[in-house]
Amino acid sequence: MNKKTLKKEITKLADNMYHCTPAQCDTKQLYEILLTMTQTFSQKRSAPHTGRKVYYFSAEFLIGKLLSNNLLALGLFDTTREVLAEMGHSLAEVEAVEPEPSLGNGGLGRLAACFLDSIAALGLPGDGVGLNYHYGLFRQKFENRKQMETPNAWIENNSWLIPTDTQFTVPFGGFDLTAKMFDIAIPGANTDYANRLHLFDVEHPGAMPESGISFDMTDIAHQLTSFLYPDDSTEEGRLLRVYQQYFMVSAGAQLILKEMDANGWPVEALSKHVVVQINDTHPSMVIPELIRLLVQRGLSMDDAIQQVRNTCAYTNHTILAEALEKWPVSYIQKVAPQLVPIIEELDRRVKAVWSDPAVAILDQEQRVHMAHMDIHYSFSVNGVAQLHTDILKNSELKAFNDIYPEKFNNKTNGVTFRRWLEACNPALTALIDDCIGKTWRKDPQKLTQLLSFTEDEKVLDRLLEVKQSCKNTLCQRLQAEQGITLDPNSIFDIQIKRLHEYKRQQMNALFVIHEYLQIKAGNLPERPVTVIFGGKAAPAYIMAKNIIHLILCLQKLVESDPQVSPWLRVVMVENYNVDWAASLIPACDVSEQISLASKEASGTGNMKFMANGAVTLGTMDGANVEIAQLVGEENIYTFGASSEKVIDLYASWGYHANEYYHHENVKKLVDFIVSPEMIALGDEACLRELWNDMQNKDWFMALLDVEAYIEAKNRVIHEYGDRKTWAKKMLVNIAKSGYFSSDRTIAQYNEEIWHLN
Ligand SMILES: *Cc1c(COP(=O)(O)O)cnc(C)c1O
Repeated sequence: MNKKTLKKEITKLADNMYHCTPAQCDTKQLYEILLTMTQTFSQKRSAPHTGRKVYYFSAEFLIGKLLSNNLLALGLFDTTREVLAEMGHSLAEVEAVEPEPSLGNGGLGRLAACFLDSIAALGLPGDGVGLNYHYGLFRQKFENRKQMETPNAWIENNSWLIPTDTQFTVPFGGFDLTAKMFDIAIPGANTDYANRLHLFDVEHPGAMPESGISFDMTDIAHQLTSFLYPDDSTEEGRLLRVYQQYFMVSAGAQLILKEMDANGWPVEALSKHVVVQINDTHPSMVIPELIRLLVQRGLSMDDAIQQVRNTCAYTNHTILAEALEKWPVSYIQKVAPQLVPIIEELDRRVKAVWSDPAVAILDQEQRVHMAHMDIHYSFSVNGVAQLHTDILKNSELKAFNDIYPEKFNNKTNGVTFRRWLEACNPALTALIDDCIGKTWRKDPQKLTQLLSFTEDEKVLDRLLEVKQSCKNTLCQRLQAEQGITLDPNSIFDIQIKRLHEYKRQQMNALFVIHEYLQIKAGNLPERPVTVIFGGKAAPAYIMAKNIIHLILCLQKLVESDPQVSPWLRVVMVENYNVDWAASLIPACDVSEQISLASKEASGTGNMKFMANGAVTLGTMDGANVEIAQLVGEENIYTFGASSEKVIDLYASWGYHANEYYHHENVKKLVDFIVSPEMIALGDEACLRELWNDMQNKDWFMALLDVEAYIEAKNRVIHEYGDRKTWAKKMLVNIAKSGYFSSDRTIAQYNEEIWHLN
């Protein structure tokens, strides 16, 4: 569509909706006009047809704001920006009023969103199935340097949700609930197709909690879709999670059979027409539910099991024991009693062949190991980065790999470059276009053509200018929205991701303490550094909240000290989400990917940073390993214990934090957490608890790697000074990032698992 037609379209909508001209509209009205226009275009598109369709089941879809993304997919992004500019507005200002759906938590949910984007862009038939959480995860607020949680009521009258007439009855133990289906259109870039994200909801959602995020967790009928991941520290909360899971998979399974019927396909041929991709273990009950529905339709138990096994594929996202769900049978008996005999039958069949308790579905304590059910009754089990898949096959899930070696496969994660480069970084996009043309946009692997510019001074200079302009833009936004003033000429060192001990934000905080003490002792760093954090802690995860408290206390300490603040700043961005990620990532110099080796399955933040010209400082974990292979050792900074070493240490109980704590340089840093300066700013009990944990437990071995980390980071700060060499590193990272396009990942899912066409 050209500028003139688009302008006409916007003018017509402004008149219809608000009886005014576009020039008279405020940004909110313009947003609603563009939303309506985009929705209309998307809804005119049909779904791709082939013999087989994938249903991507996930508890989370961290889709982020959709306006820019959908304009891009419809091919209207550049034109809309120009037209708005002529009307005296900017797309950024219009998009600022769009609320961000918080239908996800972190990487796993963002992956699901990138995958839907790529499935549509490749013209493949594939829909998402999830829940319509009204208040999302939560909105993070800082009070007294602590995280507080409030509801994120993201659904407005005019939203991306399309109500449908589709609804299903979900039979719970003792009562039924109606699941109403809402859709979000997923237009495919470079195609004429659109897929759908189906979000199921209760008929009568509960009102927003008056304060905080606590609510009556036994009021299933109204509260089932209130929040993502209700607090599971109580039995009520855990039961609510099981209610949510069954609600999602039962409605999703019924939708699949309804679409089979509509196509005139017999349910006996389910696996010929349908693939169900199970994203982590939350949707695992789709297996017994599909079996139940097929038996209800007249299939024998044997045939139903065989169909379902050939239909379902499972993605494992973690080897952290606490994340592998095990639900007591009694919970399922209460929530969905009709599934219990099926799960018992599935378990009987396993036990009849394999006596090893490590592969049982039901354990001695009558708990259902959801991942075990997935592995036995799926045709594919994949990890999300090569190292992760290797660890699954050789240690975590070795017993299963011995039984089913053919099921295990790797699909290294990816991100959509449409959102994570084109939309979030127009300046870099323009520079790349100038160098190699626009074909990389359809195939990011073509970014390797940039390698012929590594000695081109003009290009390297422009690259540094683009980075500087992104840093300036971020500074303006932080100033305007969070009242934080930063030095855009300092090094921007960024660690943004969920707060978790295995990701080791606490180790980065120890670096900050190290630099602080150095400056106080008169040893100034080579150049100013700004350490930026962002991330939410699960509301019941005390240690993660203590780490946030530590960071916020350090932020205050450093900023109020005129001797230190010109050289070192620490900031924690409030309410880190997709929108903030899109501002922070283009502005990053140093990408912090410092998880304990073997613990981060893949990471996807690392890929987004790389594509935007940040240089990684990381451990050899997850996809960092593949990044290092691609860019070569002179274009990444790696440090720390290897995954083999770490796995060994756990197996032999060989790590004792206390030994490392007593290293002279380490003790100073850890003890600073409870220094008088810090206690004056913070909550002594929280800081002390963290201090204690770090020296006596430190389950994720921050003290094992902290010295190597500080050494490596100081090397980064030093080498940053050679601007030309640094710019070359940036360019190589961008050039090699194309491998991490989720279009590549999805093409592999399709070729090796789904076989949709
Ligand atoms: C990409 C992304 C993540 C995942 O980051 P990791 O560093 O891979 O954990 C989490 N949250 C948001 C908002 C993201 O965009």
